[in-house]
Amino acid sequence: MTGMTSSTRPLLNRRLAGFGTTIFAEMSALALRTGSINLGQGFPDTDGPEEVREAAVRALREGRGNQYPPGPGVPELRAAITAHQERRYGLSYDPDSEVLVTAGATEAIAAALLALLEPGDEVVALEPYYDSYAACIAMAGGRRVPVTLRPDAGAGEAGEAGGTGAERRFRLDLDELRDAVTDRTRLLLINTPHNPTGTVLTRAELAAIAELAVERDLLVVTDEVYEHLVFDDAEHLPLATFPGMRERTVTIGSAGKTFSFTGWKVGWITAAPGLVAAVRAAKQFLTYVSSGPFQYAVAEALALPDGYFTAFRDDMRAKRDLLAAGLADAGFEVFRTAGTYFITTDIRPLGETDGFAFCRALPERAGVVAIPNAVFYDHRDAGAPFVRFAFCKRKGVLEEAASRLKTLAT
Ligand code: PMP
Ligand code: GLN
Repeated sequence: MTGMTSSTRPLLNRRLAGFGTTIFAEMSALALRTGSINLGQGFPDTDGPEEVREAAVRALREGRGNQYPPGPGVPELRAAITAHQERRYGLSYDPDSEVLVTAGATEAIAAALLALLEPGDEVVALEPYYDSYAACIAMAGGRRVPVTLRPDAGAGEAGEAGGTGAERRFRLDLDELRDAVTDRTRLLLINTPHNPTGTVLTRAELAAIAELAVERDLLVVTDEVYEHLVFDDAEHLPLATFPGMRERTVTIGSAGKTFSFTGWKVGWITAAPGLVAAVRAAKQFLTYVSSGPFQYAVAEALALPDGYFTAFRDDMRAKRDLLAAGLADAGFEVFRTAGTYFITTDIRPLGETDGFAFCRALPERAGVVAIPNAVFYDHRDAGAPFVRFAFCKRKGVLEEAASRLKTLAT
């Protein structure tokens, strides 16, 4: 196939033509081909809790979920999601009308945007953004309006550095956010903890976003899939907890990150009934339903005692510290990661300026794969020198990666 018919019309439509192959597939294939350590695509290299895996096996054996589950998700999972939101954040949702189970957060994002946007609507999103945002806004016929997160000066904030020694973090410029909203803006698409920068929006930043949304009567879609991966003194605060937000906010969660089963693709939204009904209207024609037996397993996982979530977070924080130290040793500038699986670095101290070229050469130079943050930007120049490394890997793998990367410094 050449991508053209005999009439020379391209097969792929204009809305998707610019997107190419997702960077995650490209970089994971590169890792396989070169035998490199894959710190690109964010997935853990060990599975989540044994009892959760067993819960999936039990569901499968007992014939729970082997046929189409109910459209909104199995009742056990919907109840577990609402109990989780209540227990952790004091947010109460009705499991029948205010929850929708999706095929991962990816489908939740797609369905929300397809349902809530008219062609031409503007979506204000934090740049760099997770790659599916841009594609889904395009599929919905919307227009994305990026607000760029930029590294701060770092001065006077040493106490916030956590265990990594990294001083600077990416910050949201609230004036820029305000200026990005026009009469055509339909929704704000927010992500905290933020992939790829590792920034966690502060209470003040979230309060300002909430005020703006209320003042301009905007819908908000907030991707909180890393809600349990928040480190040091950072705190995850769901946008839906801010005044005036519950009724206008679609909150997205996912079991993939929280329980280290990214292949199960169980995600969800919580929102007011009208928003859930709208998103369901799109979702029913995407997958209809998915992940039957895994839904039962995730229901059990969400009810795990607090100790699971704390131990998981502490383990991931130790991994962050290990990789951050290795990257600093290898000569990168390391930005402070307060949440997620990822560390963003600046390659300029290594004498490099082009993250794409750097990541393409890295397997050859050091046997490691990373992601060039520029793919997550419309303003490619703003993202050019930044490169993302995932630390959701075994300690030995991170140590080996660090020792390989050290050769860059010599
Ligand atoms: N949102 C963000 C910010 C992500 O990083 C990811 C993927 N890791 C997703 C959504 C997709 O999540 P899922 O695997 O549940 O579809
Ligand atoms: N969210 C993961 C990341 O940012 C990858 C998910 C995917 O491959 N689509 O690395």
